[in-house]
Amino acid sequence: MQLGYEDAVAVVTGGSSGIGLATVRVLLRAGARVALCARNAGRLDDVANILRRDHGDDKVMAKPFSVLDEGAVATFAADVQDRWGQCDLLVNNAGQGRQSTFATTSNDDWRAEYELKLFSQIYPIRAFEPMLRSAKGAIVAVNSLLAYQPEPHMVCTSSARAGVQNMLKSLSVELAPDVRVNSVLMGLIESGQWTRRFAARQDQSVSRADWYGALAQRKGIPLGRLGDPVEAANAIAFLGSRAASYITGAQLDVSGGLNRHI
Ligand code: NDP
Repeated sequence: MQLGYEDAVAVVTGGSSGIGLATVRVLLRAGARVALCARNAGRLDDVANILRRDHGDDKVMAKPFSVLDEGAVATFAADVQDRWGQCDLLVNNAGQGRQSTFATTSNDDWRAEYELKLFSQIYPIRAFEPMLRSAKGAIVAVNSLLAYQPEPHMVCTSSARAGVQNMLKSLSVELAPDVRVNSVLMGLIESGQWTRRFAARQDQSVSRADWYGALAQRKGIPLGRLGDPVEAANAIAFLGSRAASYITGAQLDVSGGLNRHI
């Protein structure tokens, strides 16, 4: 199977950690040039230096900003245009989940969560759309299984994610035939947010393996474990590639079987 990333330019938001970083690495190994962003400049710099060492200076572009800063996103797109003159793939990955029930979600929390989930897609898509159209490129949105299977302790996040899925479906029609728009629905992937929850576990004597094992069992994941970020990245890289050239408006769940829908 030919992914066709040689000579391609990819943009990955939230590329300094977890699923985003794994995606950056998979794309670089497949031959793409990759531009990544994240808010924490120090961590992004450290990551970018390692990526440049491993793949070459000319293959990596990194800039610190929030994807919720529309002007910064637009400037980033202009930087990519100036440096590489094209964008073949946009991976909208930046973000995090919010744990709260309806009772514990304030109005401001609702607004902030909807802003994060929707505008972390909208601003980059607006900014990169012209380049994506001329490249006949692709957008892959990183979303969550919660969009279809809400959890009571993640009411706000689940509902915002359902809205994102709906918007992506519309975009897959509006941007066709120039740009393919697909999404990946993550189950539980062992990355930044779970590392933080593990670090904050109530009983600090519980080992990493036991904590993750119990989590997988409690959630009823048929494959019996959390996913590795590389497993998520492989799905993203496939959907964004020429190998998926007849797929648009689709969602691929990477959840170890946690998705109960037919
Ligand atoms: P990580 O915390 O490991 O990585 C998140 C990345 O996004 C970091 O690089 C972070 O860097 C960046 N980021 C966060 N907010 C912003 C922002 N506003 N602007 C720019 N960059 C930002 O998390 P994961 O890899 O686990 O998550 C990646 C995506 O997958 C997220 O959207 C998450 O919600 C989603 N997801 C993950 C699941 C999982 O089980 N891991 C399950 C379902 C969905 P910095 O903090 O420096 O900005």
